[in-house]
Amino acid sequence: MTLQITYRKPILKTSNLISPIIIGGKSVSDKSGLHAMSSRNLVDRLEKILELHLDKIIIFGMPKLHDPSGSQAWNNRGIVQNTLRTIKENFGKKIQVIADVCVCQYNMSGHCGILNRNNDVDNDMTSQLMAKISLSYAESGADIVAPSSMMDGLVLSIRKKLNDNGFNDTTIMSFSKQFSCLYSPFRLTTFNNFSKKIDKSTYQIGFSNSREILRKVKLDLSEGADIITIKPSLGNLDLVSRIIEMVNCKIAVQHVSGEYAMTKAASRNKLIDEHEWTMGYFTCMVRSGVDMIISYAAEEIAAIL
Ligand SMILES: [Zn+2]
Repeated sequence: MTLQITYRKPILKTSNLISPIIIGGKSVSDKSGLHAMSSRNLVDRLEKILELHLDKIIIFGMPKLHDPSGSQAWNNRGIVQNTLRTIKENFGKKIQVIADVCVCQYNMSGHCGILNRNNDVDNDMTSQLMAKISLSYAESGADIVAPSSMMDGLVLSIRKKLNDNGFNDTTIMSFSKQFSCLYSPFRLTTFNNFSKKIDKSTYQIGFSNSREILRKVKLDLSEGADIITIKPSLGNLDLVSRIIEMVNCKIAVQHVSGEYAMTKAASRNKLIDEHEWTMGYFTCMVRSGVDMIISYAAEEIAAIL
């Protein structure tokens, strides 16, 4: 009797993966496993990424200078703008480049916008500011801008600003973000001052509120978003499945710094096999209908694939 073996095709592919690059004036390694890199090593890193057959990256800037408004975020010679130009000059269309659009790692407050007199984030002023930052990134070569501050009308103001300046083809990837402690390792690595806890509950969504996140996704799409990203990924795959039933667009998730750090910590303590867990978890994401996964583990997983 011949033994029947069923081979299952892996459903996770390198084309599902997006590698985040945290770029700053100097290289920083954190105990969470996160690395911020200096622009000096950028071209080498991207060559290695291409060798792994990855073709999408997202850039997070870590500026040297901070001020109350976070003005380095829209400085035409800022860290992200310079990085975008270097990538496009060296790699052209070989890599699709997404630029994270926010001011929290650029200003002094750590909030994702402009504060008013009551120290609340001002919705309309922040939306206009994000449109200005998005235009600056598009002019520097970003293929996709990824606003994450969750203001009402944010996507509309960015779409309008881009179209008014001839960037009709620049894609908008809009984040639907839950208020979570799982962003802490990223903030520890990149923020100017991480001593205080920042309450973002007025503009980010709580875990129990699925209706609000679904409403936000619909609103962003009606305003011109092309891709929806849900973060964190852990605990939110039910929302992904519901969104896929509801809308017709590409869906991404961000496997955030805290999720990555937890896996690394458990592996360091020899409690789990980190690659087996991550492969399995990413496969579940694709099974739920996710098209793209932003993850600090993207390069490790691409090497296995
Ligand atoms: Zn932010």
